[in-house]
Amino acid sequence: RVRLAAAIEPMCHREPEYFDLQDEVRARLLGLFGLSREVAPVLIAGSGTSAVEAMILAGVPAGKKLLVVNNGVYGDRIARMAATHGIPFEEVKFSWDTVADPEAVAKKAKGFAAVAAIHHETTTGLLNPIGEIAKVAHDAGARILVDSVSGLAGDAIDVAQMDLVAGTAGKCLQGLPGVSFVFAKRDALRDAPKRSVYLDLGELASKQDARNTPFTPVVPIMNAFREALLEAQEEGLEKRLARYRETAAFLRAGYERMGLQYWLPHRRLSNTLTTLRLPKGRTYPQVHDALKKEGFVIYAGQGALEKE
Ligand SMILES: *Cc1c(COP(=O)(O)O)cnc(C)c1O
Repeated sequence: RVRLAAAIEPMCHREPEYFDLQDEVRARLLGLFGLSREVAPVLIAGSGTSAVEAMILAGVPAGKKLLVVNNGVYGDRIARMAATHGIPFEEVKFSWDTVADPEAVAKKAKGFAAVAAIHHETTTGLLNPIGEIAKVAHDAGARILVDSVSGLAGDAIDVAQMDLVAGTAGKCLQGLPGVSFVFAKRDALRDAPKRSVYLDLGELASKQDARNTPFTPVVPIMNAFREALLEAQEEGLEKRLARYRETAAFLRAGYERMGLQYWLPHRRLSNTLTTLRLPKGRTYPQVHDALKKEGFVIYAGQGALEKE
């Protein structure tokens, strides 16, 4: 259904038909995650990283500091975004196999306007305690900015507790890649500085609220996203999380029977990703190519994990 929905007749993105589609996608996003109108769902034409970058640019008021919780490639990426745009930041780092410790974040968070954290660190499959991190950020008077690009609709997150949450159509929401989005508390957008022309959340939100768009959206991918959101609603969010959880349990039982070793203790893993060590005496390309012949695609570890 999702792939067929991308094969629509051409639709002009300046016509009411497109704005009906845009309104529907925004409303369905709010509905799926049980959010009120206090939250603006802001759509962006771009991969998940564009949503994360737009969130970081909007979420740190001018002259204020960002604290980045970093325990993987995606935490690192947020630090690089802040550095690239000249946003003052510091990091609280944990090793890649360690869950971010809310107490350590609490100790450091005073004086920061915002804390950025990754819900599901896709580098390793590690799930961070995002609710607790949000709480200590708020207790310290900071906003919480969450990269949940690979978390939303795969693992539980209370989006309403967060100030800004970045997500994408093409992961656990089961749409196609090319549309991403940020859930933004309208309050948090009020003092959003202008740091980018394209990735300007405030501008995108006000144009979309007025049934408009500043730039050309990816119309066929948006239509596919609408279909994916319909499917998600039909399945139900809780049932989707359960399906991923049960699928992971099934796969992990099989990995254990085969004697494969986890890279991370499996209780730290998300519902959607399992990191395993290479079997003894096998290289990654051997394992990858043999599985691909059977119709399975696996993914190498990132950074230093590539050869483990
Ligand atoms: C996939 C992912 C992203 C963004 O990836 P894109 O390739 O830009 O879609 C960002 N953060 C996390 C945690 C991810 O898993």
